[in-house]
Amino acid sequence: MENDCIFCKIAKKEIKANIIYEDDNFIAFPDANPRADSHTLIIPKKHYKTILDMPSTLGNEMLDAIKSIAMDLIKQGKAEGFNIIINSFEPAGQVVHHAHVHIIPRKKGDRLKILE
Ligand code: AMP
Ligand code: ZN
Repeated sequence: MENDCIFCKIAKKEIKANIIYEDDNFIAFPDANPRADSHTLIIPKKHYKTILDMPSTLGNEMLDAIKSIAMDLIKQGKAEGFNIIINSFEPAGQVVHHAHVHIIPRKKGDRLKILE
């Protein structure tokens, strides 16, 4: 665990989050500043600064987590589509330096401008 990393603290359950998905290596919870209803973050439990530091062997499990959460959002009627965003390094908008995947639910005609 990295000192003072907010996502490490959530992964270790030192800070309470509404965990909506968990497996051996990943955990997911709502974004605190949602850009859309049910905007969700998926993080590896272990601290990696960006996905460049993550072992590729975690790739299948990360995709399974993304698919499971996205399918649930669609089944529950919370999304008709979704964007997956991974901001990597500050010029790309990364603010929390613990690798994470945004799942942003989309609805027809929502006109969301997600990269602005
Ligand atoms: P990024 O710009 O990709 O680094 O996005 C980091 C995201 O983490 C932002 O959308 C924040 O709203 C979100 N965030 C920061 N702290 C928390 C927290 N304690 N719980 C949930 N989401 C958080
Ligand atoms: Zn961390």
